[in-house]
Amino acid sequence: MTKHKFPEEIYIAYAVCRNCNNNEFIVDGQTQICNNCKELLFRTDERIYVLNKKDIQQGKKDILSKNEIVFPEKILVGYATCSTAANGEEVVIKDQVICQQCEEQMVIEDTAMYFYSNKTYKCPICGYEGLYFPPDNSYETCPNCEFDFTSYNDEGAINEYKEKWDKKQNEQN
Ligand SMILES: [Zn+2]
Ligand SMILES: [Zn+2]
Ligand SMILES: [Zn+2]
Repeated sequence: MTKHKFPEEIYIAYAVCRNCNNNEFIVDGQTQICNNCKELLFRTDERIYVLNKKDIQQGKKDILSKNEIVFPEKILVGYATCSTAANGEEVVIKDQVICQQCEEQMVIEDTAMYFYSNKTYKCPICGYEGLYFPPDNSYETCPNCEFDFTSYNDEGAINEYKEKWDKKQNEQN
């Protein structure tokens, strides 16, 4: 039993440091600093990982994303605390132990294994079924209709885009 509550689902990003060229996987959702030089990291691709293995299809190995980043099948995540900051608690990749607030070394108190989620989502515009992120929490662009989901919360934008898309499909048929 672990004493800290790990989230069911986390977003793992592949981040690169433009200062020292360090690359690392990070748990997305907070500001991240490079463990090597302490500059800010730049996120590239990201994927969803889940705490429980039951949602996972069998037999999948490491996954190559379109930016040619190999996302591991599973990743060990730590629950880390910092002694010097009031809010110094974070869920981090196991060996990523620099506090984002005070830049001290954090203590890993617990660990949990997360698994790559093979679940895919359907595009509400064009019906494409291979989206990696739920439309309401996504930085993705649909590879089929090219809708950018960062504007998903703008209902007007969706309706307008969908109308255009449907019209375009009708014209082609
Ligand atoms: Zn760096
Ligand atoms: Zn701290
Ligand atoms: Zn689409």
